[in-house]
Amino acid sequence: MNGLRRTLFHSLKRLLSSNKCALCHQHVPGMRKYVDDHGNQINICPACSTYAERRAYRKVK
Ligand SMILES: [Zn+2]
Repeated sequence: MNGLRRTLFHSLKRLLSSNKCALCHQHVPGMRKYVDDHGNQINICPACSTYAERRAYRKVK
């Protein structure tokens, strides 16, 4: 097993999952950052941002 290849795969996977919409789980460009009820920073895509604001998620500047 190639250790370097494994590491690259895992870092790529983490990069992709960190840029995923918390509501629809899609990888969309133009992601916006919000803070949820628990104080966790989440990514919300433009399509879900109206729903996020209705849920009173705070926008991160
Ligand atoms: Zn979304």
